[in-house]
Amino acid sequence: MKYISTRGESPALGFTETLLAGLAPDGGLYCPQSWPTVSPETIAGYSGRPYAEVAADILGRFAGDEIPAGILLDLCQAAYASFTHPAVTPLVQLGPDRFLLELFHGPTLAFKDVAMQILGRLYTHVLAARGRSITIVCATSGDTGGAAVEAFAGLDHVRIVVLFPEGRISEVQRRFMTTTAQDNVRTVAVAGDFDDCQAILKSLFQDGDFADAVNLSAVNSINFARIVAQCVYYFTAAATLGAPARIIDFAVPTGNFGDAFAGYGARLMGLPIGRMIVATNANDIMARALTSGDYRRGPAAATQSPAMDIQVASNFERLVFECAGRDAALTAGTFRAFAADGRVSLPADVLAAIRTVFLGEAVSEAETARTMDETLRQTGVLIDPHTAVAVAGARRARPAPQATPLVVVSTAHPAKFPDAVLAATGASPPAPLAVRLRAGFAEAIDRLPADAEAVKTYVRDFALS
Ligand SMILES: *Cc1c(COP(=O)(O)O)cnc(C)c1O
Repeated sequence: MKYISTRGESPALGFTETLLAGLAPDGGLYCPQSWPTVSPETIAGYSGRPYAEVAADILGRFAGDEIPAGILLDLCQAAYASFTHPAVTPLVQLGPDRFLLELFHGPTLAFKDVAMQILGRLYTHVLAARGRSITIVCATSGDTGGAAVEAFAGLDHVRIVVLFPEGRISEVQRRFMTTTAQDNVRTVAVAGDFDDCQAILKSLFQDGDFADAVNLSAVNSINFARIVAQCVYYFTAAATLGAPARIIDFAVPTGNFGDAFAGYGARLMGLPIGRMIVATNANDIMARALTSGDYRRGPAAATQSPAMDIQVASNFERLVFECAGRDAALTAGTFRAFAADGRVSLPADVLAAIRTVFLGEAVSEAETARTMDETLRQTGVLIDPHTAVAVAGARRARPAPQATPLVVVSTAHPAKFPDAVLAATGASPPAPLAVRLRAGFAEAIDRLPADAEAVKTYVRDFALS
């Protein structure tokens, strides 16, 4: 299996090299040369199978012969043993046709753990085999950083620098990144928003000399291995609810579009997903783009769901690539124009192809708070603000019960955002052990301006120390 760039100007790589590279040197994102398919019988057989076995089966289709099946299964079993629920990603029923897919039972209580726990183990395996060391730089809107630090802290062959937007994340999120006390971890508060952090990361990759000097790697959802790991729970949830004999709809709280794109990837592999409802907070660039084809950057607003305070949804490039019939020149032109002008209009046929599956819904702050409150009162389930955005978007797109099950992806534990949950519902989510422990640890944070050169100097000093 080879991986190609959405912009068509980088050489194709194998799975391992794609894993280590993150972003392609032409500025594009890697996608498989062709998506593997999963047969209806195999999908039906995923129902009731341990999560780690399904994960190993699906990852194996992407890794090809680069990682032996037995090793992959061992890595998946170790990764998902770190989750506190035996089903790893359990379904909870909210109503007659409505389910929550809880992705927050990992070590840092957000869905980023699902991919990061296996990614850390894949990196260790691959780097040890090659005797290579790398420097990971990670831009985070709050949850990726904690999940990455948890997955990579203390590992050999890896240094990790996390960039987060100062003052824009919750205390619980911050503590997951700042309290590890491991020498291979640095956490940096950047004086800017998440889009600044992500733009800095992209410019580090575009400086080839710098990237080579520090062996730069990325574990943001631009890393295709993360998308692969996130395809898995679409399969397990759909199979549990009767796929492939039944079609399943999903609603996904969306920021960088990695989670939603993974669902689309599962569909390309043969999973019968009907509609994908993409729910955003007030940072509604994706909801607007999916509705009108106008992909236009606005100012990033701070909301109760900070992990989605994003105006540049990197993985949208992968969707455009797929829905444009894999036209790399069109994709490159579209996203270079967007980078230059902050806006671009999608061709009508590309938008039409996207809209056969995707539906965008933007949810206001008031509606998010009201949805947390109503969900608690009507179902007894306490949900976090990100999940509430998706529950609200799902209710708008599908107000009445239907025969097709609707799975709402629940991306964070309510205890990760206790202030917003308390303000909306009057209830305090009980803090899991992982949160209570962190409250007492000392924090290590460095501070930098939102400036790529300053970050380069900092990363170089750390990587070469
Ligand atoms: C990262 C994150 C999201 C958004 O996921 P994307 O893949 O970036 O679209 C939603 N909710 C939570 C809690 C997150 O951490």
